[in-house]
Amino acid sequence: MPVPLAPLTALRKGVRAFAARSIAPLAEEIDRSDRLPSEVFSALAGEGLTGLGIPPEWGGIGGGTRALSVVLEEISRVSPTVGTDLSVHLSVCAAPIHRWGNDAQRARWLRPLASGEILGAFALSEPGVGSDAAHLATRYERTENGVRITGSKMFITNGRSAGVVLAFATIDPARGSHGISAFLVPRGTPGFSVGQPLDKLGLRGSETNELVFDRAELPEDALLGPEGEGLSIALGALVGGRIGIASCALGVARAGFDQLRAAVARNPDDDRRARLARAWADLSSARALIEKAAEAKDAGRPYELAASTAKLVAARVAESIAHEAVEVIGPPATLRGHPAERILRDARVFPIVEGTTEIQERIVGKMLSDGRTGEDDSDDA
Ligand SMILES: Cc1cc2nc3c(=O)[nH]c(=O)nc-3n(C[C@H](O)[C@H](O)[C@H](O)COP(=O)(O)OP(=O)(O)OC[C@H]3O[C@@H](n4cnc5c(N)ncnc54)[C@H](O)[C@@H]3O)c2cc1C
Repeated sequence: MPVPLAPLTALRKGVRAFAARSIAPLAEEIDRSDRLPSEVFSALAGEGLTGLGIPPEWGGIGGGTRALSVVLEEISRVSPTVGTDLSVHLSVCAAPIHRWGNDAQRARWLRPLASGEILGAFALSEPGVGSDAAHLATRYERTENGVRITGSKMFITNGRSAGVVLAFATIDPARGSHGISAFLVPRGTPGFSVGQPLDKLGLRGSETNELVFDRAELPEDALLGPEGEGLSIALGALVGGRIGIASCALGVARAGFDQLRAAVARNPDDDRRARLARAWADLSSARALIEKAAEAKDAGRPYELAASTAKLVAARVAESIAHEAVEVIGPPATLRGHPAERILRDARVFPIVEGTTEIQERIVGKMLSDGRTGEDDSDDA
């Protein structure tokens, strides 16, 4: 039975109850075993959430960025592993397929993504390439019937189980950003394989893999969008994805805040109350920035500045509140199995994924200094 998408208060209430029922009891085990049971995605699918943002005509339940943000925050409050996997599936796999795909590609991929029959992944990063995505080393060459891809991708979320990977490769590194194209790579493609899982500090249970392309052959219809537009497709997807990842970070911040508040309530004094007040102010600022970015996106207004600012702040706030919670709780919070310990490890990942903090600062700083904000930043940015 899908959760109600509107009003947002009903959506939040519905998702919070779902997360408490279906995800919270598994969160500790997901972290400890570094494994996400398949029933978690089935449960998300049962609520329609694997199709959030995908229009009903393509098998989804529709819904805008505000709704997505609320869902990712509430899920990440109990398990940012699940929130991040869902964010990648929806924001940087399904959304660009919807935006750039032709109807045949939409029909082939969006329906199974929306129903949760398959999981989606986004593969831009490489062993030697992260922030500087214009310099990909993964190559493709033209064949009689399509393309052949050779190279490898690194740190790919949902990498092992994904039914489709949106992957990026260059026809010639000398062409820089103009040489890059986007491809929809089905699981099982000959020459395409998944490397060892990576044993991470945080977001444990979220699959993070190397993907290997060894002369992987793809037909012409694997090309997403125009040839040579791959970097724009990737960066465009990441701008939208940042609101989702910021929402996941906000969920982690909220979980850290819950721990902090309980600790202060157990042992209140002026210093601890002041820490709680600062955490609340930070949490509220991050939420306001995310809402602003999501509202701008839903209204069709420019949102790049707002999305990067929201991601920058939410990731910082998640880390600082998680740190405060451990500080105030004290030694018990350093023990494996304590929620605050897991929250601190999970929080540390958010300044890195989908564009590091330094990259967000460069984007925001450049847009502001160039006067290229695309929105009124004089009184409310
Ligand atoms: C858990 C996890 C999941 C991930 N999932 C995915 C995924 O699904 N798909 C995907 O494609 N990638 C994924 N990534 C990769 C992630 O997007 C990259 O790690 C990130 O973009 C940084 O790239 P990098 O690791 O190569 O670091 P680098 O780009 O080498 O950066 C290293 C450090 O230098 C700083 N730096 C780099 N350039 C500059 C600059 N110009 N100015 C100032 N500072 C700079 C960075 O901020 C960082 O602190 C994931 C990473 C993690 C940890």
